[in-house]
Amino acid sequence: MSETADITRREGRESRAQRAARREIRVIGDPVLRERAREVVTFDRALRKLAKRMMQIMHDAPGIGLAAPQVGVVERLVVYDVDDDPRILVNPELSEFSDEREESDEGCLSVPAVAMPVERAIRVRVRGWDVDGAPVDFVAEGLEARVVQHEVDHLDGVLIVDRTTREARAAALRALREGTAPDAAAGGL
Ligand SMILES: [Zn+2]
Repeated sequence: MSETADITRREGRESRAQRAARREIRVIGDPVLRERAREVVTFDRALRKLAKRMMQIMHDAPGIGLAAPQVGVVERLVVYDVDDDPRILVNPELSEFSDEREESDEGCLSVPAVAMPVERAIRVRVRGWDVDGAPVDFVAEGLEARVVQHEVDHLDGVLIVDRTTREARAAALRALREGTAPDAAAGGL
């Protein structure tokens, strides 16, 4: 998921690190974003290295969540950072979605510069593994719940344009096609 476009405007022009990060991120239209990612089977150095690289790209972008397919790796690995608490999830599985749901504008680093309303459960149980292969099992709420649902969608080839209203989807695709997104360099939400 992406941070608000305001961050870029506040800081003026984008930094070199930000541009480098953006170049690493696949954008809508790239078929890799539509694949179902494979389970991770080996918790090795390569996995830790990939997670570390993704965390760096996410922070530089700047974003608050990133899934491996967004950097062209079709494996079930996500990183996110809500409230300065960086987390890595391997093979995450979501269950016990709350009946209570909330609609909020959501952005995506792979759908640059456009935010759109997406309805999500406000609470969800997350099970999976950390990068060292230790099991994790917790309940995510609020923004963390939203980010986790967004990132797990990426692992299943689902994007926010699939989850929003028909009107918002059409407007977003039009803006992307015509290059009229509010700030093509920034992140949306
Ligand atoms: Zn995304």
